[in-house]
Amino acid sequence: MTRELSLASSVEATLRPLGPVDRLAHLLQRFGSDLRIASSFGLEDAVVVHLAARARDATGIVPRVFMLDTGRLHPETYDLVEQFRDTYAIPIALYAPAAEAVETYTLTRGPNAFYRSKEARKACCEIRKIEPLGRALSGAKAWVTGLRREQSDGRASVSLVEDDATRPSVIKVNPLYDWTWDTLTRFAKDENVPVHPLIAKGYPSIGCAPCTRAIAPGEHPRAGRWYWEEPDHKECGIHESPRAKKKELA
Ligand code: SF4
Repeated sequence: MTRELSLASSVEATLRPLGPVDRLAHLLQRFGSDLRIASSFGLEDAVVVHLAARARDATGIVPRVFMLDTGRLHPETYDLVEQFRDTYAIPIALYAPAAEAVETYTLTRGPNAFYRSKEARKACCEIRKIEPLGRALSGAKAWVTGLRREQSDGRASVSLVEDDATRPSVIKVNPLYDWTWDTLTRFAKDENVPVHPLIAKGYPSIGCAPCTRAIAPGEHPRAGRWYWEEPDHKECGIHESPRAKKKELA
């Protein structure tokens, strides 16, 4: 009896031999509007949007790109969104947090309560990132991220295609999963991908303005994210790994 491949395994088998643009083109053809491209417009995500735009040129299918607009992003991030719209003629949906939830948080805890405790920080990420992500992925069967194994220990087991840890029947595709920082920067340069100006100022990983600082030479690339917290789990929850989720449920 032949065992049926899971969706993740079947998509991975198809994508593995393909180049990066062809991977995105296949996903667009296979999933159409049920595919979403997530981008924070850091270097990885800028490259992903570039690949999606090139795949659009090859297939004629317009990708559904989105950014989580937390309301606390660097002004330069919005400038880069404008630059991508101009360069690639691609629509980019910005998902904002629910106004009432933000108002309640800032009224009861304060606008910068995330510095006070990990619980307060996670509550802010829940309101400004995780809930809007749920809306951005509504109806999706697959989404694409810029996750790379090299980014952190917590991301070392990221696969090309994996099940979404929190959404049954949704798969997550990480086409840059095995790219190094050198591969990424070389590709961006060779392909003239617009690059976030803060990267040259010491921000290899870019998130919300109050929760990101520049790193010093030799520091871990994600050391600038939630820099006042212990470095054990520098994630906001939108990239919960299937392994971490299983551990949590055990
Ligand atoms: S990164 Fe900081 S400002 Fe952004 S959602 Fe999380 S806690 Fe809030």
